[in-house]
Amino acid sequence: MNTNCSCFGGSKGKQKKPNNYAHPHTGDAADEGELLGKTKSFSYNELTTATNNFHHTNKIGRGGFGTVYKGKLKDGTQVAVKTLSAFSRQGLREFLTEIETISNVRHPNLVPLIGCCVHERDRMLIYEYLENKSIDQALLGRIRTVKLEWGKRAAICVGIARGLVYLHEELVPHIVHRDIKASNILLDRDFIPKIGDFGLAKLFPDDITHISTKIAGTTGYLAPEYALGGRLTMKADVYSFGVVVLEVVSGRSSSSSNWGGTQQLLLEKTWQLYEEGKLLDLVDPELEEFPEQEVLRYMKVALFCTQSNASRRPLMSQVIDMLSRDIRLNEKQLTPPGFFQGSGGLSSLQSKEKSEGSTSYQMSSVPTTITEVTPR
Ligand code: ATP
Repeated sequence: MNTNCSCFGGSKGKQKKPNNYAHPHTGDAADEGELLGKTKSFSYNELTTATNNFHHTNKIGRGGFGTVYKGKLKDGTQVAVKTLSAFSRQGLREFLTEIETISNVRHPNLVPLIGCCVHERDRMLIYEYLENKSIDQALLGRIRTVKLEWGKRAAICVGIARGLVYLHEELVPHIVHRDIKASNILLDRDFIPKIGDFGLAKLFPDDITHISTKIAGTTGYLAPEYALGGRLTMKADVYSFGVVVLEVVSGRSSSSSNWGGTQQLLLEKTWQLYEEGKLLDLVDPELEEFPEQEVLRYMKVALFCTQSNASRRPLMSQVIDMLSRDIRLNEKQLTPPGFFQGSGGLSSLQSKEKSEGSTSYQMSSVPTTITEVTPR
């Protein structure tokens, strides 16, 4: 293994000229080789051996820009190898952003990036392999891989929150992830959650309150002010976190819409049940026993996180206190959550409801990954 990712050419050892590209955060012209020097480099041969020539039986997932394979390095380390489409500019940008953002960042609740590989037009990212895969595979939908009791689910929510506190409040420059969702939260063998996929992340210098940016992320998890106006702050991640908490409690995906014949998305349904005083009806039927007050607290915290007005959402450090009972929840301050879900892109938004300083948006049921949309 080489010590960094600045070598090019993979197995044949050919040195290719580094590409010039726009720096993922500054937009300035930068040199790919310089960024790649931040992480370890694997040769293409090492990865073909590790994955048995990218054999289909080692395929563990597929994202917007390529396939993820399980592999085993020579020293026995299990890895996940994410291949990025050779012809996608967005894929290349995400590859570089990931390296720029987290190659030197370590935290128990973040997926460690082990290295990368550049082989001809292919780009690959190598991560620690996480046995229990992503929350969506483990916990949501019809084919669940595990049965998780409440204690583990609560620990998953707190672990994700800790990872976000680290990114938002402890690291300098701060990092806004921009794509917090069930498929980007991976679980290790002890079900400790780790936030992965930093391909859309943005660095926030200390003195900057928000960034106006192209919109990227996944519908169903997108905060309305960001989805509609491209105004990005940490509160966009707080919103997405709130949606994930509701998914973990209910065992249903954010886009899950059929509630015994009625079509409603998870957040919409949650608010309805809250108003009816029936929030416990949302709890995953697979949870046979659970502490009612604590579970209610988690769902209410999720409602605070998904408030339509970003300034009403707590910071992630406050979320940890709120989850752990240190703070009394002032429910009088709760207003309806903000909804955004565009099945056909942003143009499909419709204003649904206006309440005290907040606007809700009609949701549709098809989750879509938005890679880049220029704000209006
Ligand atoms: P998108 O690209 O649209 O954001 P995604 O998040 O599902 O979608 P990927 O990050 O490429 O896409 O991951 C695809 C799947 O691969 C994940 O849902 C997960 O199940 C699996 N996976 C990714 N990384 C790892 C890992 N380190 N360990 C185990 N499984 C992983």
